[in-house]
Amino acid sequence: MGLRINLFVAAALAGAAVLVAPTPIAAAEPAGQITILYDAFGTDAAMKKDWGFSALVEISGKRILFDTGNDSNIFAANIKAKNIDFTSIDFVVLSHRHSDHMAGLNHVLSVNPTVKIYAPKEGFGIFGSSLPSSFYRKDESLPPEMRYYGGKPPEVMKFGTAWQGANIELIDKTTEIAPGITLLALVSDAPGTRELKELSLAVNTSDGVVLVVGCSHPGIEKIVEAATAINPKIRLIAGGFHLVAAPDEVIARAVATLKDTFKVESIAPGHCTGEPTFAALKQAYGDRYLYAGVGTTLALGPGMGSVGRRGEGPALQEDDLASYRKLAHREDPFGILKARSLRSGLSHL
Ligand SMILES: [Zn+2]
Ligand SMILES: [Zn+2]
Repeated sequence: MGLRINLFVAAALAGAAVLVAPTPIAAAEPAGQITILYDAFGTDAAMKKDWGFSALVEISGKRILFDTGNDSNIFAANIKAKNIDFTSIDFVVLSHRHSDHMAGLNHVLSVNPTVKIYAPKEGFGIFGSSLPSSFYRKDESLPPEMRYYGGKPPEVMKFGTAWQGANIELIDKTTEIAPGITLLALVSDAPGTRELKELSLAVNTSDGVVLVVGCSHPGIEKIVEAATAINPKIRLIAGGFHLVAAPDEVIARAVATLKDTFKVESIAPGHCTGEPTFAALKQAYGDRYLYAGVGTTLALGPGMGSVGRRGEGPALQEDDLASYRKLAHREDPFGILKARSLRSGLSHL
């Protein structure tokens, strides 16, 4: 009887252990760093500035090249300035098919032709793709010479890539590619980039998720929401938030969502985040805004927000926070929509 109870207790404890087990965390070491290799702003005189994005993410024992910039020559020069050895990187992530994120791939391949490259899977995409041959309608009444593949198609039709021979692995849906290291695969529905698939890098550490984004075409809020499924604690977001042309009310809403809804701890925006969004994030995050110009290395150790180079903005005052929240909850916080409707009303007079 006693044994049975003990067994029961042991089983219950085991069940409890399973229930409270954390989501996989990438290898134990919490420290690491992110070095910005490509962007259009920065203070490092040795680095060239150009539109585009690339970062070397060294975390959990892995060296990950995230995106490869806009111009192969500038990318190569910046890599040289930082003395980065591509022969020892573990893998490359190409966030999406825009040239300002992948033009430096040729340089990477010239140094390390067999490196593993993760890229989004898109129909007839530049990274290559495939489809089952059942996708096209058949007409058996036609003579073989008028039929695709003489009427005997392969089961899977493969479509080429611009980097033939490269070791590209296509990612179709969110995938954990190594323990604690996940590629979030989301699709944009914004005009101009509808159906564009983008990968973001989410690394689950003992201090929360470190999230690296390329352009955030699917929406920074949606990407962060997907990352919280891995671990609700988001430690840092670095990269482009794609608010470069967004109106103030959209920026205010995004800032409030990151800070208040998802409680993102620190922020290191770059690339297509946009100048007004830099300002708004700096105001909202104070010393938790980590400056991330080209050439900067962000330290990811414990207490990350207080090490490395910080944003110079003063800590946010309570009334600033209150006004941000108010703005974020209003439909037309700056009266822009109202002014527009007034203007268009007047033009009809
Ligand atoms: Zn971009
Ligand atoms: Zn883009």
